[in-house]
Amino acid sequence: MTSCSTNEQVPRRPQIPEPSPVTTAIVVGGGPAGCAAAYYLKQKGLSDVTIIENSEVGGCARTRSYQGIPYEFGPQIMFTDKEHLRKIFETWLTQHKPPSPDGEYHYVVSVEGTIDDVHDFPITVKNILKLPNPEQAIWELYQIDPDKPDYTNFERYAVSRVGQTLYETYIKNYNRKAWQMDPREMDTDWVNFRPLTLKRVNSRFSGQWQGHPGDYNPMWRAMTQGVKVERGKARFDDELRCYINGSPLKADVMVSTIPISEELEFINTCLVFVAVKCDHFCMPACFTTFPNTYDFVRILEYKQQFFVESETSLLSFDFPWRRQCPLDKFVEEALWFCRNILKREPVEHWVDNRERIYPLATRKNLQLFQHKLEQTRHSNVIPIGRAGMHAYCSKDTAIRMGLETAQHLEELIHPEKKVNRLLEMRKDLH
Ligand SMILES: Cc1cc2nc3c(=O)[nH]c(=O)nc-3n(C[C@H](O)[C@H](O)[C@H](O)COP(=O)(O)OP(=O)(O)OC[C@H]3O[C@@H](n4cnc5c(N)ncnc54)[C@H](O)[C@@H]3O)c2cc1C
Repeated sequence: MTSCSTNEQVPRRPQIPEPSPVTTAIVVGGGPAGCAAAYYLKQKGLSDVTIIENSEVGGCARTRSYQGIPYEFGPQIMFTDKEHLRKIFETWLTQHKPPSPDGEYHYVVSVEGTIDDVHDFPITVKNILKLPNPEQAIWELYQIDPDKPDYTNFERYAVSRVGQTLYETYIKNYNRKAWQMDPREMDTDWVNFRPLTLKRVNSRFSGQWQGHPGDYNPMWRAMTQGVKVERGKARFDDELRCYINGSPLKADVMVSTIPISEELEFINTCLVFVAVKCDHFCMPACFTTFPNTYDFVRILEYKQQFFVESETSLLSFDFPWRRQCPLDKFVEEALWFCRNILKREPVEHWVDNRERIYPLATRKNLQLFQHKLEQTRHSNVIPIGRAGMHAYCSKDTAIRMGLETAQHLEELIHPEKKVNRLLEMRKDLH
């Protein structure tokens, strides 16, 4: 007969300490991700939420105005296929639909660097007919197995989706310029969320709710009501401690929308804004990409995108750069384009040059990011947003991450659940 003594020591499973209740949060960076995180954390009942912002809330998505033409550094277009994100936009913003007959944005690509014979962007079946050797492109498309994209690297992926000819014509040099490196060195991290295929019509956000609010600022103002905003440049050290002007920052949680490692590499972007004399539009579409010929990758015509009546049109030229920014060369090229290709006289120009904008998706960076993410498990840092998650995403995704930070806060402070939840939040990027 076995006896069971009450004094017997039964080995216990180690207890994971219950996370302490969160009342204070510091959000580093007041862009879309940071504003949304601050707003929803406040809504959740946190008593003290502070944003540390280097410049102005809104980040890349802060709207300015030039002679009645709204413009930003970043998200010109508001789009989403998610009902709950659409509701967030509609709470504070008015949607102006794209000024095209079907209410959708249609972009174009200039292969030769002029505006006379532009092709569809994203590439459509019609593009093939414009090529010098359409038979070759059709033959290559015929060889493709659509169910088996090649994820080895970005170049292999693109060729496996659209064939060598279309890749060489439209994609190769564009990506070389945009990422300042050979597409073979690029990981396919972000293409997992963007199936690069030949389209029938050139609508980029087909089927999605899309438009422009004219002014994004009411959303940033509303989201930061009741939130302290402190001006300053924060940085994280190797142990994920956050400092501002050498002093440590302390809160129950630290939401970081800035990179969690100084070593993570990004591409910098210099936008050259040029106002030209023009009472209508001067570009073939509100958004034209240039894979070849120039240092800039695209031109956006704000007036056309938003349809404002004025005697000038405002263009932005997007110049990616990596190590050093040849500012004078960029400005000269933008002005040359206006005078010689558009045949329009620049009235005014200015430059907005920002560092660490597009996360560079190389294996090295992605491995470092994974490692840093694992390190957050035992810290109070919650990385979100484009830089925090080292993910090429649009503004609605950044806002979604801010919202989910509050919705899943309990998991995000739980050492065993945190990384899985962060990886869940990094899914479905666009
Ligand atoms: C040229 C361009 C065009 C784009 N077009 C679109 C588009 O059409 N539609 C769309 O949806 N998205 C677009 N995007 C993407 C969109 O801008 C980003 O997805 C979005 O801004 C990301 O939000 P975020 O909060 O993660 O980062 P950010 O907007 O970059 O905000 C980060 C904030 O942190 C602050 N900050 C940085 N470092 C520090 C520091 N050390 N200390 C304190 N504060 C700091 C910055 O000042 C900034 O306010 C575009 C981006 C660019 C650059």
